[in-house]
Amino acid sequence: MAEMRLQKFLARAGVASRRHAEALIAAGHVTVNGAVVTEMGTTVDPSADAVAVDGVPVALPEEGATFMLHKPAGFVTTMSDPQGRPTVAALMADPLAAYPALFPVGRLDADTTGLLLFTTDGELGHGLLHPRRHVDKTYLALVEGRLTDYDLRRLREGLMLDDGPTLPAGARSLVGDEARRAERLIGSDAAASGRRQRHGGKRSRAALAGKSSYVEVRLREGRKRQVRRMLEAVGHPVIALHREAFGPLELGDVPRGEARQLTDAEVAALK
Ligand code: URA
Repeated sequence: MAEMRLQKFLARAGVASRRHAEALIAAGHVTVNGAVVTEMGTTVDPSADAVAVDGVPVALPEEGATFMLHKPAGFVTTMSDPQGRPTVAALMADPLAAYPALFPVGRLDADTTGLLLFTTDGELGHGLLHPRRHVDKTYLALVEGRLTDYDLRRLREGLMLDDGPTLPAGARSLVGDEARRAERLIGSDAAASGRRQRHGGKRSRAALAGKSSYVEVRLREGRKRQVRRMLEAVGHPVIALHREAFGPLELGDVPRGEARQLTDAEVAALK
């Protein structure tokens, strides 16, 4: 394996973010082949040099890495944007410093919040997106008005969009504690941003009258803006949208704007 800078080695090994790794090096916690190294430019050969932090040997993980990001509203799912808009890559700066090959698995709209996976494992990433894999994605949506049983049935049974019929989906209205939980998860930022985007400053009569409700939609496909288009098709435009689960993975308590690395068991559950 090629030589790399010591702080990158430590970040890649999962010891700390690159910045924190630099602090560990500067403070004399790190040894290379038994000698304390405080020089920041030091490079190591991962296959030959013995690196330790406070005497504990550190090694690179054998395989790549997979992370889940809690994406906030207002970030575009791309690694670089010619128009200079904020991208998810900026939120992933530390994981990317350790694993430059990370790429997003699919995409969330700029105004959608929630769980976005990144992986270095091309087979895993592309496999998860393959239409035949049918991985469930769970979304919480704040919508205009309240869905009737008929609306929910149309979503569940599949409806016609301009790019073809949708597969059967999970759909249910959230009330009581579940609605309050959805409200907390979607958050006021995302809701405000979604409202601005949807109505371009002019809110519809239903939204102005405060007639909105929460719905959970579970999809096995991932077409462009699919949840928004499906809810629009049943007459309930989306005000804000949040993905809370991807297959067996739930976003849990990952803070907004931050990412956490998946455990080996979580990655295995995705395969
Ligand atoms: N469906 C949408 O409409 N938007 C997303 O970001 C994800 C799913």
